[in-house]
Amino acid sequence: MNPAGKPGKSGSLMPVEVALARLLEMADASRIVERERLPLARVEGRVLADDLVSTLDLPPWPNSAMDGYALRAADWTGEPLVVSQKVFAGQAPDALMPGTCARIFTGAPVPAGADCVEMQENADVQADERVRFTETLTPGQNIRAQGQETTVGELILPAGTRLGPIEQGLAASLGCAELDVIRKVRVAVLSTGDELVEPGQALGPGQIYNSNRVLLCSWLQRMGCEVIDAGILPDDLVTTRARLGELKDVDLILSTGGVSVGEADFLGIALREEGELSLWKLAIKPGKPLTFGHFRGVPVIGLPGNPASTLVTFALLARPYLLRLQGVKQVEPLKVQVPAGFDWPIAGNRREYLRARLENGRAIIYKNQSSGVLRSAAWADGLVEVPEHRTLIAGDSVYFIALSEVLS
Ligand code: AMP
Ligand code: MG
Repeated sequence: MNPAGKPGKSGSLMPVEVALARLLEMADASRIVERERLPLARVEGRVLADDLVSTLDLPPWPNSAMDGYALRAADWTGEPLVVSQKVFAGQAPDALMPGTCARIFTGAPVPAGADCVEMQENADVQADERVRFTETLTPGQNIRAQGQETTVGELILPAGTRLGPIEQGLAASLGCAELDVIRKVRVAVLSTGDELVEPGQALGPGQIYNSNRVLLCSWLQRMGCEVIDAGILPDDLVTTRARLGELKDVDLILSTGGVSVGEADFLGIALREEGELSLWKLAIKPGKPLTFGHFRGVPVIGLPGNPASTLVTFALLARPYLLRLQGVKQVEPLKVQVPAGFDWPIAGNRREYLRARLENGRAIIYKNQSSGVLRSAAWADGLVEVPEHRTLIAGDSVYFIALSEVLS
């Protein structure tokens, strides 16, 4: 393994975490606070605006965890007990008659006076319908205590929580029919490049189909953003300036392409003229060139145009920015350590995100890791992170970021 932190070309590259910290700082400074109230069924992917505090005990009363018999443990002396009532889920039982037991079903309230439930498998119903228990009984057994999950006044979900099916289910269990969420982030998506043609049209000489547009638009929609599809921008300053000027009422202009070194960078020129531009050379592969700035006050993130670069920089930089704009605290994807199932003999000066798959508990990588090859990501389940200046041999531990973590 090479010594880490070797000086050299990497000195001029910005580490990914520095770029992310800067982006998150900007997001914090322009945090969206407007909110809307939505029915619970429609909050998926959105961000909770206020703390959700319980107004209920859960469960609201002690209930049975089993189908069986409720009784007072001390009443069982070996003499079979009469069944004095039957309690189904959804019913309100009478207090238990002393010296008897109650037939009870899962989820039904435990009658007052009973302190345990015995499962029906450990109960013998005698010919006279009285019940004999075959095991020792312990007070509290098979009873779900009132408030064991949640008590009134407890903080259940803090403001800034991203809502998904589990949070929706939890809010429903507390009786919430609606929730206040941060309004949708409005994102305009621009694809730049004279070579781009939309699918469905014939390809001319030198042309390729625009894949970033639909990739980003779908991804943003999944994230709960409002997407303004601003189409393809030709490599031309006048049109670039005019088109950017039309995108006033958005929180972010997200463009792809046109940021490669040496290219006539019209987006950059427009930002310099009527806003502000930071051109970052990131220590990331695929990726590297990334633009951040604003045009007439509207924030702009310019991602590199190669589709795998677009994917990686969106996942690791633009997505966290968009989540933080809505107040999400934990914006970085979960990384898990797995053994590498491959060798990586040549250390690079940029942190690599290899399109990878888990096979028998090891990460294997797609054969072609070129930044232009989107197929690598369709094959993959995730990204393996190879730190700067590192080589690997199979069996070394690497971080793996599941694509499912970042794709919503
Ligand atoms: P650029 O940053 O504009 O130099 O683009 C880098 C590479 O990505 C070039 O090969 C472009 O043709 C390609 N590219 C840029 N934008 C897109 C796009 N929207 N869809 C597919 N490929 C693209
Ligand atoms: Mg281009």
